[in-house]
Amino acid sequence: MRTPRCPRCGFAFAWDGRKCSHCPPPSRARQLWESISRFEEQVNSTKDITPRQLLAIAGGCLRRVEEHLSEALIGVADALERGPAAIRRMAPLAAESEFSATSPELPFANALNPMLIAVARNTIPELFRAVTYLAVICRTTIGNHAYPPRGVLSFSLPRELERYRGSLEREIHSLETRAPGRPVETYRRLLQHHLQGRAEVEQLIAAHEHLDNQLTHYNQLRWQLMAAEERAQCEMVRDMQIYPEITVAFDPEWRTSTAVAMAQGFVESRDFSAMPILADALQDAGCEDPEILEHCRAEKPHYRGCWVIEMILADGK
Ligand SMILES: [Zn+2]
Ligand SMILES: [Zn+2]
Repeated sequence: MRTPRCPRCGFAFAWDGRKCSHCPPPSRARQLWESISRFEEQVNSTKDITPRQLLAIAGGCLRRVEEHLSEALIGVADALERGPAAIRRMAPLAAESEFSATSPELPFANALNPMLIAVARNTIPELFRAVTYLAVICRTTIGNHAYPPRGVLSFSLPRELERYRGSLEREIHSLETRAPGRPVETYRRLLQHHLQGRAEVEQLIAAHEHLDNQLTHYNQLRWQLMAAEERAQCEMVRDMQIYPEITVAFDPEWRTSTAVAMAQGFVESRDFSAMPILADALQDAGCEDPEILEHCRAEKPHYRGCWVIEMILADGK
């Protein structure tokens, strides 16, 4: 078991597990950057983003939901991670008409096919939009998996209100046919207005409020899960983007055969658990750059496209 050390300076005595008494704390601006929780804002925080980085981000978003993906989509993630050349060789996922409207693949195809076109045209704004859309689909996949969309009538009612369920169902149905596609948040007031003058209006409204509160709570839980995934997506983007206010000059001397072999191994296996050992290898080669060493040693997940790995492998590509 390794002694816990500050990922930046490497001192064990100065490290309390969260912060270091030896290293200066990061600036306020940097702390803000490291806590960005909106995906678009995070991706936009780097000035000169490349198609390769955008595709790696898209691949990373898919990897995070890999357990919910088909073999075909996992293959797409692989191509995205390998970069624009691999994507240009890819055929469109499938014509939209080949998917049924309920296919879980359809939303992914709707996000990925514009991505293929954007890569072919080499237009960054289009690519950015497609990647942002894919990130939304991935978050929604997680939310819907844990909390599949439910109708208000699928929730339970207390015994004294249960006997109003039938008439409430008829009233909701008649309202839906008269006012289709109303936004959910205006629905409660709309229904209450609709019920005025009906027999037992108060009980019907009470029953509906009871159901609606449960639905709202249920949807909030799904939303919280999606927000947590968005924060994780932002952290993933920060694995691929260096803090924009600093520059790291990578000395080719650090690119030893050991470091290159380790980096290649991590990328192949997608197992980055030995990143702290890579930091030791870089240090043996003379690297004392605190950004690089900290990035390798900090307890954070890494992805294909990790900026340190990209720097080590940049030469051979
Ligand atoms: Zn330190
Ligand atoms: Zn990394």
